[in-house]
Amino acid sequence: MTTPVIPAHLLKRWTSILPAHALACAVDAIASSASTPTAIRLNPLRADPRETLFALRAGGITLHEVSWFDLAFTTSLPPRQLQAHPAHGDGAFHIQSLSSMIPALLLNPQPGDAVLDLCAAPGSKTSQLAAMMNNKGQLIAVDSSRPRYYRLREVLRVLGAQADCICAHGERWGRGHPAQFDRILVDVPCSGEGRIHTGDDAALEDWSIAKVRRLASLQKALLHSAIDALRPGGTLVYSTCTFAPEENELVLQRALERYPDRIEIIPMTHALAPSCPALVVWMGDQLHPSIAEARRILPPLEGFFVAVLRKLR
Ligand code: SAM
Repeated sequence: MTTPVIPAHLLKRWTSILPAHALACAVDAIASSASTPTAIRLNPLRADPRETLFALRAGGITLHEVSWFDLAFTTSLPPRQLQAHPAHGDGAFHIQSLSSMIPALLLNPQPGDAVLDLCAAPGSKTSQLAAMMNNKGQLIAVDSSRPRYYRLREVLRVLGAQADCICAHGERWGRGHPAQFDRILVDVPCSGEGRIHTGDDAALEDWSIAKVRRLASLQKALLHSAIDALRPGGTLVYSTCTFAPEENELVLQRALERYPDRIEIIPMTHALAPSCPALVVWMGDQLHPSIAEARRILPPLEGFFVAVLRKLR
């Protein structure tokens, strides 16, 4: 097995995006091909979390608590070994990266809410939203990929999560369903830079600035569609698993320009994993100061970008 090498141009970009300690951490992890701990989320829709925890520990699995989320645990066991445990087949827990649990926590849906998950497959976050809602209310899960839509339905079935799954293009959703949802998650397809140090070699091999730009255009269309679908007073979380400002800060900047005085980026109330504020200057351009309220989740965790938006009118 050859050790992946970060191309110099990507490293240079990361130097101007990430704090030095987070960059060093990502570079070290890539150089050593170090494996990150596996994270699980206990699923109260299928079993009492205390009983699941007891069953896993009784089976000899060492689990570590996560300070900012009581249903999350980490272990040094590889995912394949956890998948072999009967509690996994029963849907009592779900294997999911810690960073990936943050967007749903920030969206904070309540039982009875009308919630839209616009890029939902394979359903890690949809199932988390359903659990937070205790399967009460309306949860619509949209994804444009037919194979991933089937995967989404299967994941939700195993986890006992109730949602209406729809295979559709998210960028057209808002026009047909204006101002209908209390909360919307927009977990867009992205270039996946935040996964490179966790061993996603495909993200590294496929990375190009052309791909970043192509995705940024789709991400803007998806976010605008979601804003159209959000009711005034509603909350929206925008998330990616990439570092690229074109797919993060600049997507928010475009939305603030397109919906002046109609949306705002609000501070996060949930304590987060290691993170830093989003950039307000990129390539010499000054961005809207409120973008600093968005945050980058940093290595050693999977790199994520999260922003909480409120629709004012
Ligand atoms: N939220 C998912 C989860 O937690 O399991 C992961 C979502 S993944 C980052 C992005 C998803 O967006 C992919 O499943 C992809 O098929 C979907 N997608 C890509 N283009 C889309 C579009 N135009 N409309 C809706 N979904 C799209």
